[in-house]
Amino acid sequence: MQQDTICVQGGWNPGKGEPRVLPIFQSTTFRYETSDQMARLFDLKEAGFFYTRMQNPTNECVAKKIADLEGGVAAILTSSGQAASFFSVFNICGAGDHFIATSAIYGGTYNLFAITFRRLGIEVTFVDQDASDEEIQKAFRPNTKCIFGETISNPSLQVLDIARMARLAHRNGVPLIVDNTFATPINCRPFEHGADIVIHSTTKYMDGHATQVGGVVVDSGRFDWKAHADRFPGLTTPDESYHGLVYTDAFGEGAYITKCTVQLMRDLGAIPSPFNAFLLNLGLETLHLRVPRHCENAQKVAEFLSTQPDVAWINYPGLPGNRYHELAQRQFNGGRSCGVVTFGIRGGRERAIRFIDSLKLTAIVTHVADARTCVLHPASHTHRQLTDEQLMEAGVRPDLIRFSVGIEDVDDILADLRQALAAINE
Ligand code: PLP
Repeated sequence: MQQDTICVQGGWNPGKGEPRVLPIFQSTTFRYETSDQMARLFDLKEAGFFYTRMQNPTNECVAKKIADLEGGVAAILTSSGQAASFFSVFNICGAGDHFIATSAIYGGTYNLFAITFRRLGIEVTFVDQDASDEEIQKAFRPNTKCIFGETISNPSLQVLDIARMARLAHRNGVPLIVDNTFATPINCRPFEHGADIVIHSTTKYMDGHATQVGGVVVDSGRFDWKAHADRFPGLTTPDESYHGLVYTDAFGEGAYITKCTVQLMRDLGAIPSPFNAFLLNLGLETLHLRVPRHCENAQKVAEFLSTQPDVAWINYPGLPGNRYHELAQRQFNGGRSCGVVTFGIRGGRERAIRFIDSLKLTAIVTHVADARTCVLHPASHTHRQLTDEQLMEAGVRPDLIRFSVGIEDVDDILADLRQALAAINE
């Protein structure tokens, strides 16, 4: 199936007399006829549903759809994007290990890696994703287990050169994990550029309607864990909690997601409810229509803002002068990046706030990548504890406005911007 068809019909393929729409299997548990049947499931000798904390038919169908959209072999849904980031790294990293992340990543992921992982005994080194190969190479250690980056970073909109980062990772015997939330598989399929694992906050474009918080981890099935067996003992040596089963031997290319499911999800339990998976699936059915429209509208918004005297600077990979324009053209489908545009209002923080408060159609919300146009001023909202100096260190300028362009008629979005720009000079 082509990608557009996967969006609409993937994951659920009903047989005779079965519901056309993916059903919500709102059931904690599943019935078996003999004790032995159930025992075989617990020993992972047979595949089957037995408890929703591990697997559920609704969740599984939606995970399969996303795996197919990304061109992966398997996927697992999580209860949030944060959980997906956590699971993707923790599945191959334990106390005493180290990994590398790009410093431009989403602030929540940054905190998770820098603070919470440290408390678990896992160390991270942040690197500038645009530094030279030699510079990034210096971050590797004998106990490094992966590199993590974002296809398009939130909110700084830095575009990751996935092929280059994958080359660096593979040269050092570790996988590249990519958060593909902003690009979505409609604009970019990181596996085609060499990434090994992809994660998403499905809360964003995949849902698109702000109805559920969710995440997903997808495996390409291509990283050769056995070739680096000493580095990844969790996958290549016996798991005592399953009578000595070895994931790579028992599950081959499905080893990574199986371990994530039967070990991490069993123990940590960050599953989405089947109802949330159902809502996510409704969003996915129109992803291929919404994403191009978000990008078309964002392009027009970026072009409009770049002509405005009150706009001090604008960052959008679709603009020819942008630092990442050429990379975006090369790496993204049709050169499309995402629907998010960032810019600064001349005069700094105070005027930025006046501008945001003057917007009418555009809503101030802690969200991004929604069908409805929305806005956030990180210095006043998500990063409000930081001083201007600390903001700059975090890559967030005090005047930065994150404008998430929706799929309304672009003339209405432009009119809203025009009247808010006029209002700051009144
Ligand atoms: N990754 C990116 C790029 C994000 O923007 C976010 C949230 O904004 C997350 C991960 C975390 O996702 P969630 O809010 O679903 O936990």
